[in-house]
Amino acid sequence: MSWPSSPELLAPLAPWFDRARRDLPWRTADLDGPHPAPYAVLVSELMLQQTQVATVIPYFTRWLEEFPDPGALAEAPEDAVHKAWEGLGYYRRARYLQAAAASVAAEGWPADLEGLADLPGLGPYTAAAVGAIAFQWPTPALDGNVFRVLARLLLIEGDPKPLAPDLRSWLAPALKAHGPSRMTQALMELGATVCAPAPACAACPLAGPCAARRAGRTGDIPPAAKRAKPKASSLWLLALEAEAHVLLHPPAARGLLAGLWRWPTFEAASHSPQPTVPGPRPIVAWPGWVQVYTHRREAVSPLHVHVESRFTPAEGLRWVAREELRGLPLGKRDQRLRDLLETPGQVPLEAPDPESLIRACAAPSA
Ligand code: SF4
Repeated sequence: MSWPSSPELLAPLAPWFDRARRDLPWRTADLDGPHPAPYAVLVSELMLQQTQVATVIPYFTRWLEEFPDPGALAEAPEDAVHKAWEGLGYYRRARYLQAAAASVAAEGWPADLEGLADLPGLGPYTAAAVGAIAFQWPTPALDGNVFRVLARLLLIEGDPKPLAPDLRSWLAPALKAHGPSRMTQALMELGATVCAPAPACAACPLAGPCAARRAGRTGDIPPAAKRAKPKASSLWLLALEAEAHVLLHPPAARGLLAGLWRWPTFEAASHSPQPTVPGPRPIVAWPGWVQVYTHRREAVSPLHVHVESRFTPAEGLRWVAREELRGLPLGKRDQRLRDLLETPGQVPLEAPDPESLIRACAAPSA
């Protein structure tokens, strides 16, 4: 590759970052030595995977209060860990973080990049970021923001990701010259705040040498990623209550929803709505919402139905006392129904006949 020398090209980034950097709770003032709390860097990097900085800040602060070091996190009950992560999404990260903390608590921090990459949940990007920011290793970290900045700076046509090995080799001398922690965070900061998808080139310290800006190509470098159309579904989300208890699915051991309690759900297509009949069985249906995930969109219709007494639930369901509900880790969609249950002034709307839903929650012999 005939790219210009990275220490020279990226030199303006260092003073810009010292001036413009955001004050974030996991950042230290001293960018020239190892970070005094590598665990804080690890927590922040895991939280920042897939999640915006503004969302992460309060979670990070509470997390460090509750689990101040790897040993505390390693020993924490799984429910407490998921509860502290509740609302951040991608819950696998919480489990990986706890497993990584257990490894660090037992064996100490790895001595090199390969060792960091072997910790659960890190992968090449996070390992390199932790290596550079926590330990000052010249290990270039390439995430989506950094790929975008480099693609524009160097006028890389097409998807820059296949060039990752070349880009890492190109970046390493700049990290050595200007400080691994400073350069890594400066590139991330530039991608997050200036060289965003719609870039603010007038505010960019690299505007002079930026090849895409000079060529008038900032709009098409890098090309927009093609996204598959999300799958759509429509479901009832049911809070079935009896004797001050509600029915929930306990957490699965594995999979995307591992660690989370869940309300029972039913495909809306199999339960067509009927007008609510005033009667002895209180039913509350709220206006629904669309829950957006990476690859699917769910039209959610929440329901609250009372039955007189607890029955033997179907396999995979468990009665939980209402007073314990607030302490259980739930995913975003299910938190919303929990919050609705606690909202006064519930108004009955059109609801489905709940009998089929109730039957589906009961064990066959009940
Ligand atoms: S000049 Fe514009 S396109 Fe180039 S790196 Fe800076 S913000 Fe990005």
